[in-house]
Amino acid sequence: MTFSLHGVAVSGGIAIGNAYIIVHDEFEVRDNLIEPSQIDAEVVRLHAAIDATASQLRAMREKIPANTPSDVAAFIDTYLLMLTDTTLSDEPIRMIRERRHNAAFALRNQRDAIVAVFEQMDDPYLQTRHDDVDHVVNRILRTLFRDDLTRTDENTQRMQGAILLADDLAPADALLMQHYGVLGFVTEYGGPTSHTSILARSLGVPGIVGVHHARRFVHDGEVLIIDGNEGVVIGDPDQRTLNHYRRRLDERLKYVAKLNKLKRAQCVTRDGVAIELQANVELPTDFAAAREVGASGVGLYRTEFLYMNRVDIPTEDEHFDAYKHLVETVRGVPVTIRTMDIGGDKQVDPALTNRAKGANPALGLRAIRLGLKEPQLFVPQVRAIIKASALGAVRMMIPMLSHIDEAKQVREIVRSIQQEFKSGGVAFDPGMLVGGMIEVPVAAIYADGFAQVLDFFSIGTNDLIQYAIAIDRVNDEVNYLYDPLNPGVLRLIAMTIKAGQKAKVPVAMCGEMAGDVRCTRMLLGMGLEAFSVHPAILLEIKRVISDTELQHVRSIAEKALKTTDMDRFKDLLQQLG
Ligand code: PEP
Ligand code: MG
Repeated sequence: MTFSLHGVAVSGGIAIGNAYIIVHDEFEVRDNLIEPSQIDAEVVRLHAAIDATASQLRAMREKIPANTPSDVAAFIDTYLLMLTDTTLSDEPIRMIRERRHNAAFALRNQRDAIVAVFEQMDDPYLQTRHDDVDHVVNRILRTLFRDDLTRTDENTQRMQGAILLADDLAPADALLMQHYGVLGFVTEYGGPTSHTSILARSLGVPGIVGVHHARRFVHDGEVLIIDGNEGVVIGDPDQRTLNHYRRRLDERLKYVAKLNKLKRAQCVTRDGVAIELQANVELPTDFAAAREVGASGVGLYRTEFLYMNRVDIPTEDEHFDAYKHLVETVRGVPVTIRTMDIGGDKQVDPALTNRAKGANPALGLRAIRLGLKEPQLFVPQVRAIIKASALGAVRMMIPMLSHIDEAKQVREIVRSIQQEFKSGGVAFDPGMLVGGMIEVPVAAIYADGFAQVLDFFSIGTNDLIQYAIAIDRVNDEVNYLYDPLNPGVLRLIAMTIKAGQKAKVPVAMCGEMAGDVRCTRMLLGMGLEAFSVHPAILLEIKRVISDTELQHVRSIAEKALKTTDMDRFKDLLQQLG
């Protein structure tokens, strides 16, 4: 019987496909039996995954800075011991050989057996050590999973055209999904501005998050419809429902065709004021999309992708190649390369950062904080950005600034690299602009101070809202409070815009709010002159901008920012249309 489940719409579009249910962090763990002819190869695969995991841990151990507490090295040594202990591998190998289980399933089974032994221990300390077993096994499973990417087995074929259901998806998994040709996804947790959701929009994969217990209601393999605009999952649809959604898919295609006519149109308001409309990019596929929709520049290039799904640090050359590719693809328009924003909800392999995720990653050593602490991650990137400035209009942007000294330190790093390049005859643009993201409330409040050291601002509303309202952007339980039009949030944005105008520092916005059509007129009214949005939504925003009378929205925004009467505030929002 047809049923529906509701969640938070995070990536628009409609998808119709068969459900593929996955278990968190155990993407590949299914009890598919292997063929007798595959047994030897499967044992080799398990050994190779264990060896690769051990190499990653050894590399991590070597990179531990001298001043790190000795416990950290001891932990890694314990993990390495576990990996070489045959308790971990003997039983899985027997399961592969005698019962034809696949390596991942056999390994997970053994993990459960070991964990059960730990849990029965009386000593509370030993009881908690099962986390270590989990950690080690998950590392091996991940290696096996990546290996699966290149294998066209039954699972990967099933993912083609499927709708994934998981408890949660890490950004790294969202990227890997693309290889499988997944049509859409549903998760039980997560928020609309999590990096996974942003990536999904970037990949054009419809998605819904926060559908609690979805996997209890949906059977593996059954037909599902997901409506990524409304946040609705429909299971076991009858013919009428299917026809309805197929029609909507058609209508959407027609609407997109209509919007496409705006590609080459100027981005001006009805009263003739030009507005900058740039693109947010992340994956190489976005570069071409940005050019295709006629973006006037790239307002945000998220570079974390370069650090994901790997255990070694990207080199200066790798960075440079990526930036060159971007500059050459968008041809002639300015690009803003944001330095690494690793941490928070954009986790990379701990081998790169020399540290675990931490209890409160959004408030931890994230983005520029990590970059200044671990220059081996950051400096090759800055060098590559400076080199890329010789290729076209390249600007560098610093994420998560919370203190002016961070901006000053970065400027000093830039200055000394430029000095070195000058002496060595390496080409670069000495006028390269260095700006910062205003995404921590103190930076908005103190924007006039930041304007003294930065060449431009870009407001990162995803984080600004997270920190201002104190809602973890990946926590679906507090999603209901996520509101870009919260009057307090609007005041922080207004302060930033005003400070920029006063100091003649250009202000853009690159958070998801910039691409939210419900906010466009308010932002225009507040004086925002540059929007940076994902290419998939750019034309829609252009349509709203060109349909807005600036004079009109200015006076409404002014009143909305002043009032403390919530009913009046809502009424003013409605007047914006
Ligand atoms: C933001 O915080 O609004 C932003 C653009 O950065 P990210 O989403 O990558 O944290
Ligand atoms: Mg941010």
